[in-house]
Amino acid sequence: MFDFSGTLWLKGRMKKIPVVYSEDFLTDYRTVDCENPERAWIIQSAVKEMAEFHIPELCSEADLLLCHTQSLVSSVERDGEVFSVAKRAAGGAIMAAEIALEQPSFALIRPPGHHAGRNFNGGFCFFNNMAIALYTLFSRGAIRNALIVDIDLHYGNGTEDIVQDDTRISFQNIHAFQREEFLADLETALKDAPSFDIVGCSAGFDTYIHDWGGLLFTDDYREIARMITSSNPRTFTILEGGYYISDLGKNVASYLKGVQEACL
Ligand SMILES: [Zn+2]
Repeated sequence: MFDFSGTLWLKGRMKKIPVVYSEDFLTDYRTVDCENPERAWIIQSAVKEMAEFHIPELCSEADLLLCHTQSLVSSVERDGEVFSVAKRAAGGAIMAAEIALEQPSFALIRPPGHHAGRNFNGGFCFFNNMAIALYTLFSRGAIRNALIVDIDLHYGNGTEDIVQDDTRISFQNIHAFQREEFLADLETALKDAPSFDIVGCSAGFDTYIHDWGGLLFTDDYREIARMITSSNPRTFTILEGGYYISDLGKNVASYLKGVQEACL
């Protein structure tokens, strides 16, 4: 079991973090082997002591059409099981963004979303959860602008495709070949964070030292979360990648610990 390593006194003061999660994310829908239900299960198990769980609804088709073409939506709809879970994942992202207007939150959702563009998808993604969450808030007049920080190993090409011409959104994709460079680039990306109405983090844990990226350590996710959450009181994080199952739970728990510390 992961050791949260705080003192009893500190643990007593730690606030539970709102984590959006549904057992629907344990569905073994048709996708690649590495993006499997065990990812959600192992994370849920590792964070349950520090989480206050919120169960999301499915997003509406109108929510999807804020960011995607009808033809893309229809193409996903052909597989009813995927369509349903992907709509709940987007609904989970919306819920996390809504919660973030009051307090920092985390969306433990799958399938991931940052490779889904307006009229294309791929890379284990079907709908762009982050973009749908932000555009839903825009459509309600809840926010005027937003900063997206993408810390996944892979470039958030789908997110870029959707938001690139929107002057209300700043999209910062962190990409580095060295750990120190990664953290320095994140610090730079967060420089203007206080001026935005909300900050959304697309969090991939495939940057982990034993995952595909071979870059970051467990404690780095704690520092990253602390940096992001400290940058603006309205922050939410959405799970993207992360495939090294053995340590995925403790890495997300480490991230949530950073969120907690920033909230103290
Ligand atoms: Zn990735």
